[in-house]
Parts: sequence; structure tokens; C-alpha cells
Amino acid sequence: LYLSPPLGEGVLVALDGGQANYLGNVLRMKEGDELLLFDGVSGEWLARVAEAGKKRMALGVVRRTRPQEATPDLTLAFAPIKKGRIEYLIEKAVELGVSRLQPVVTRRTIVDKLNLDRMRSHIVEATEQCGRTALATIAEPVKLDAFLRTRDPGQALYFADETGGTPAVAAFRAGPAIILVGPEGGFAPEEAEAIRAASGATAISLGPRILRAETAALAAITAWMTAVGD
Ligand code: SAM
Repeated sequence: LYLSPPLGEGVLVALDGGQANYLGNVLRMKEGDELLLFDGVSGEWLARVAEAGKKRMALGVVRRTRPQEATPDLTLAFAPIKKGRIEYLIEKAVELGVSRLQPVVTRRTIVDKLNLDRMRSHIVEATEQCGRTALATIAEPVKLDAFLRTRDPGQALYFADETGGTPAVAAFRAGPAIILVGPEGGFAPEEAEAIRAASGATAISLGPRILRAETAALAAITAWMTAVGD
């Protein structure tokens, strides 16, 4: 279960609202029951239910069970896609280990509003589900040209290009990286040209077939994790 920091040995946490309801009424936890907590910064902690009320729960933090995970320095930059698909993409990208999500608005991006709070709650859920201890971040959407202008030059930029490029697994090098994937309609030709011309950019291929945007993103992350992830 995710709780905002700081957690630490001996800390007593009072819960109400949704989290108390989830533990008390959904999981039916009682006094003395144990559960695992994380706060996104200090690893994983064993806690025990100290008080189980109808609307309130208190948890006592017992001891740390795992240190904070080392997060691979991988950003997924993606053009927002439709609701169900973007939620799927975020969930799977978190499971696969990305540390940052950067929505990028392109000429053919058809989704113009993103509910970042909702996206963040999907990140928390996926993190809880797969046992990560670090929370990925999601940034405000930026336009493609601003993204190219302001990105950290220390991060390699891998551009998923369905028209061809170096096979992804062969292209990846260790070090901070961004994987950039286009919208359903692909990048406009002048956008693709600007991306290819950006410093430190490498066009990568994910095989001979045209993949949907979310498939391409997940295939690229998987290939990066296989080649250089830790
Ligand atoms: N422009 C294409 C079209 O309409 O024919 C489709 C774009 S594809 C659905 C969405 C995005 O997935 C692309 O912009 C690209 O970033 C990525 N992508 C899809 N297939 C790929 C492949 N085989 N290799 C690399 N990237 C791919």
C-alpha cells in the first residue's frame, strides 16, 4: 500500500477515507494483521494494524523489509492516445520499469486533455501491484518542438520510427534515455525530420510491422530493459 512519506520504524499512521475503507471493508483487516507499505522514497516497510475501526485504521510501522529500488533512468515520451489505451500504456510502462512519463503533443495527436491526477492514481496502483518501491512521475504535456528544445541533452533520444531505423536492441546504450513514440497517425514528415536532426537522437525499429502506439511503446521499453536496463 502506498502512503505519502515519511515512513520509518515506530511511526504510527492514521488512515481514513478510501484507504481505511479498502483495508477494513475490502481486505477485512483486523488488529494485529500485517501488510507492506511503501512511500516512494524509503523502500518497503512491514506494518501491523494497531487499530481497526469502521472508518478509521491505525497502522504501526514495524521494520524495513526492502531498501529503495534503484530506478533505471528511462523516460517514455509519448503522444497521448485514447482513454482506455493510455491507462493500459501507463500501467504496463510502470510495470516494465520506466521512471518518467512525458506526454508530448504532436500535429496528429487527437487527445488534447489529460487527467494527470487520474494518471497518477494509475501509477500508484501499478506500482503497488508489481511491488516496485519507487513511483514513476508524469509531467504536464508539452508540444513536440518545446520537448526537443528543452530536453536534457544528457539523455539519449531513441525515436521509434516505423519507417526504419537500427533494430532497437542493437541501438540501446547504457545511460539515461528517452524513448519517443508517436500518435496513432504517426509523426508528420516535418516532425520526424526534426526529431532525427535532434542531437543524440537515434531512430529505432521495432520490427517490420506497424504497431499501435501503445504496443510500440511497450515493445521499446521491453527491448531497452533487456538490452541495458537494471
Ligand atoms: N504512421 C503510421 C501509419 O498511420 O501508417 C502509424 C503510426 S504507429 C500506429 C504509432 C507510432 O508507433 C509511430 O509513430 C512509431 O513511433 C511507433 N511504431 C509503430 N510501429 C513501429 C515499428 N515497427 N518500429 C518503430 N516504431 C514503430
